[in-house]
Amino acid sequence: MHHVPAPSSPPWEIVRLDDPDAGLEGLIVLHSTRLGPAVGGCRLWAYKDMTEATTDALRLAEAMTYKNALAGLPFGGGKAALRRPAGAFDRERLFAAFGRAVEALGGSYVTAEDVGTGPADMAQIASSTRYVAGLDRGPGRPGGDPSPYTARGVFRAMEVAVGRQLGRTLADVTVAVQGLGSVGFALCELLHAAGAKLVVAEQRSELASRAAAMFGAEIAGTHTILERKVDVFAPCALGAVLNEDTVPLLKASVVCGAANNQLAAREDGMRLAERGVLYCPDYVVNAGGMISVAAEYLGWDLAEVDRRITGIGQTLGRVLDYGNAANLPPHEAAEAMAREMLARPRAVPYAVPLAA
Ligand code: NAD
Repeated sequence: MHHVPAPSSPPWEIVRLDDPDAGLEGLIVLHSTRLGPAVGGCRLWAYKDMTEATTDALRLAEAMTYKNALAGLPFGGGKAALRRPAGAFDRERLFAAFGRAVEALGGSYVTAEDVGTGPADMAQIASSTRYVAGLDRGPGRPGGDPSPYTARGVFRAMEVAVGRQLGRTLADVTVAVQGLGSVGFALCELLHAAGAKLVVAEQRSELASRAAAMFGAEIAGTHTILERKVDVFAPCALGAVLNEDTVPLLKASVVCGAANNQLAAREDGMRLAERGVLYCPDYVVNAGGMISVAAEYLGWDLAEVDRRITGIGQTLGRVLDYGNAANLPPHEAAEAMAREMLARPRAVPYAVPLAA
């Protein structure tokens, strides 16, 4: 493991991981430790080379910095990107080695689950380091799968967005949910309970059928859901779903969903604003899972998690007010607000993990 210079000015820090015996090749990016340890998941992906892994980790780590700041968490932003070895590999050995690399950073980076990693990997990492979240801490305690918390945060944000944009409650709107995975399905459940009408699209047709049976959801095609005449579009599948081809097709007047990196490019945020669509910045509204990770790591109880997840709606309101006052579209307002927070002196002590 060795430190290499970051591609741009500080606070970036990149730690190269290279342990061929364990099949470990990748990097940890610490984008910012201004507000606390850099927290962000560990992605295991078939990156074609280290350049691709680096680009991905840099982009994701920066988003984590803004997400954590706006969620009011005592954390900076980081990310790990590991190249998935070709062919069979010893998963336990790989993650034990990764855990040792995390430990060597002394708590300045805290890892968690991400695409391609799961609870068993986190347990393996925990055999070498305390600086890991995403472990199941048992009933009545935050921890484990963050998806239900993410869904609750998106729901809270959507309540606020619909109130501001349409002057209505969720009982009076139709929401198109794209992707019925761990977050999307849980979001449908909440929306249905609140009286919203649902249109859904999912590649795994059995999930779409289940949503139809359980929530009376109408099933749309995965390519056509964007064009449906609904009030809210909730992307809960892929990134880059809002781009120069899709934005002109949107009929919804609010976009609020869990997917990371929904805007293919910054200009797409402007395109949405020009069409009068209220875009709720993804990392503002999908912070619920991160709040659960923080609670697990720092030892908060479920009531505190609840309070903070409800706070996601209020944070979105503040971002939108900031944008109105500064004449900025929401995606730019969120980033400007986060940068302001990062420029202030740190108000809370450096976060340390809950004793095991
Ligand atoms: P998931 O993999 O469980 O679900 C994604 C679902 O989308 C899958 O069921 C997949 O079949 C479906 N899908 C893929 N392409 C589709 C398409 N074109 N149309 C319709 N459905 C499609 O993932 P998840 O944990 O539910 O996360 C959803 C999104 O939210 C991801 O972008 C993720 O990065 C983001 N996110 C998740 C969390 C969390 O707590 N899980 C937190 C923050 C952000």
